Amino acid sequence: MKEVSILDKRFSEFISEESIEQRITQLAEQINSEMDGREVIFLGILNGAFLFAASLFRQIKIDALISFVKLASYEGTGTTGRIKELIGWNEDLKGKTVIVIEDIVDTGGTVERVVDELKMRKAADIRIAALLFKPDAYKRNITIDYVGFNIPDNFVVGYGLDYNGHGRNLPSIYTLVNS
Ligand code: 5GP
Repeated sequence: MKEVSILDKRFSEFISEESIEQRITQLAEQINSEMDGREVIFLGILNGAFLFAASLFRQIKIDALISFVKLASYEGTGTTGRIKELIGWNEDLKGKTVIVIEDIVDTGGTVERVVDELKMRKAADIRIAALLFKPDAYKRNITIDYVGFNIPDNFVVGYGLDYNGHGRNLPSIYTLVNS
């Protein structure tokens, strides 16, 4: 089994590059057929989704745009402490069909945040695509429309996902080895 060290932790290969690319091709084909005749705006959530977004988007054959927003987290002055804000909204999304591209949906807090913002911006149809989904950790009711892989509730890195900023360039997905 392939193993890598990142900072102080060891990770073992969990989903191969080939399996990831095959699955993304299937998701793109599904989107191409379901969205045929519509104009879609893909909205990638940075940083983690950049590789998934690139691979998915280049296989999209319908009329499509892509844009990215970033979840910025900073110390708030209020009692809640850390505040997360989505920055970088450039597109007018009113009345549009939007497919959110997430690297991984864990508790669902991020997806909920993005969906709330899209509703505020009056997007007409909102769908979610996530390369990875942790059903056991998920605590929201929003449907994840396009899921690459359902995975157990363990920490993973690679294919855009990081451990303290490292490991995003690993071509496959690795899971934490508990020592
Ligand atoms: P949620 O808001 O759904 O709880 O978490 C989503 C975000 O948490 C993801 O976009 C990702 O940045 C981070 N995250 C959740 N689980 C993992 C994981 O297993 N590995 C990595 N690298 N990030 C994760």
